[in-house]
Amino acid sequence: MSFDVQQFRQYFPYLQSADAAIYLDSAATALKPQILIEATVQFYQSAGSVHRSQYEEKQTALYEQARQHCAELINAESSQHIIWTSGTTHAINLVAYGLLSELKENDEILISEADHHANFVTWHEIAKKCGAKIKILPILDNWLIDENALIQALNTQTKIVALNFISNVTGTEQPLKRLIELVRQYSNALVLVDAAQAISHVPIDLQDLDADYIAFSAHKLYGPNGLGVLSGKLNALTRLQPLLYGGKMIEQVSHENIVFAPLPYRLEAGTPNIASVIGFNATLTWLKNIPFQAAENHAIQLAETVKARLAHYAHCRLFNSPQPSTIVCFVFNNIASADLATLLAEQRIALRTGEHCAQPYIARLGQSSTLRLSFAPYNTEQDVNAFFTALDKSLSLLNEE
Ligand code: PMP
Repeated sequence: MSFDVQQFRQYFPYLQSADAAIYLDSAATALKPQILIEATVQFYQSAGSVHRSQYEEKQTALYEQARQHCAELINAESSQHIIWTSGTTHAINLVAYGLLSELKENDEILISEADHHANFVTWHEIAKKCGAKIKILPILDNWLIDENALIQALNTQTKIVALNFISNVTGTEQPLKRLIELVRQYSNALVLVDAAQAISHVPIDLQDLDADYIAFSAHKLYGPNGLGVLSGKLNALTRLQPLLYGGKMIEQVSHENIVFAPLPYRLEAGTPNIASVIGFNATLTWLKNIPFQAAENHAIQLAETVKARLAHYAHCRLFNSPQPSTIVCFVFNNIASADLATLLAEQRIALRTGEHCAQPYIARLGQSSTLRLSFAPYNTEQDVNAFFTALDKSLSLLNEE
C-alpha cells in the first residue's frame, strides 16, 4: 500500500492550525487525530460510566472493543490480557510492585544502560525494598546490548529481566527476540518489555516475542494521554499482586473474606479512564486503514536524510542507531544543546533537548544533554528544510557571539 503524506496530515487538527510549529518531537508524544478527539467528546456528551448499569451498554461495548483492538495490535492471547493503566510508567510499576512479595534478598534484576527512567528507576527502588541486586547490562558502541554480558549476567538467581525494545534517545532497536531466547536458555527469569517507543514503529507480536510482560502508552500511538497498557502471558499476569484495591476488582466481599475478580479487572481497581479508552478505540480502528510500514518508511527516510545532511556540519556529532530509525540524536561539540534548542524554538522548531528521561544512557553517550529530532509519518520534506534553515540561522547567530 502506498502512503500519501498530504492525505495523512489532514487527520491532524494541529497541522491545520495557522500557528502550528514544525513538530519534530513525536518520540515524546504523537499528534492526535480528529477521530480520537471526536470519540472523546462524544463520550463526555453521554451519561454514565462502564460496566455499572444497563443503560451504559453502548460505551461499555466500545470500551471492551478497545481491549480487543489492543490484543490484535500486539497479538496478545486474549483481550482479557489487556490491562488498562495510566501509561508505560504505571504498567512497569504494576509489574514491579506486583512481584515485590516474591522477590528476596540476593535475587537479581537485570536492566540496561539504555533504559528510560520508567524502567531504570522503578527496578532500582524495588530492589532496595526487597534486598535484590540490580545488574545493569552495558551497551556496546553501536548502542546495542552486549549479548555476552547478558549471558554472563544470567543465572539461577536472575528473577527479572526488564529492557526497552526501542530507545527513546537514539532510536536503537534491540534484537529482543534473540535476547529473550538467551534469557530462557540461561535462567528462569520473567521478562518485561518496555515497548513505549516500539509500539508506533514496529509490528509487535507478543506471543512470538515470548515476553512475559509488555508495557506501552497510548499517547505515543496517536492515542490519548493518561492511558497505557500492560499485557503479557496469563500466568505472569495472574501472579501479580494488585497495586490498587477497591471497587470493580473484586468478585465477592464479606466481613471475613475478599475474592478478587479475574483478569483484567483484578488489576484495574476504581472507575477507569473511560474517555481515553473510548478515544483510543477510535484511534485503533482508524489505524487499521493506515499503511503502517509505508508510513513508517516515509518517516525513516526523512530522519535518514537529516542524518546525512547533519554529518556535513563541522562539530556535529550524531548518535546513530545501527538500523535506520525515525530519531536523530545529536550534539554540536562547540555549542550547548540548550542554547541551540532555544534559538530553534524561537523559529518554531519543536524538538527535544536534555536527558530524555535516561540519564545513565546520556552519560554512556559521554554527554550531559543531547538534541533529539523525532519524525512521524505526518512530517514532510518541507519540515526537514525548515529545520535546516532554522539551524543555519541559529549556528550563524551563535558563532557570531
Ligand atoms: N519507556 C520509554 C522507552 C519511553 O520512551 C517512555 C516515554 N518517553 C516511557 C518509558 C514512559 O512512558 P510514559 O511517560 O508514557 O509512562
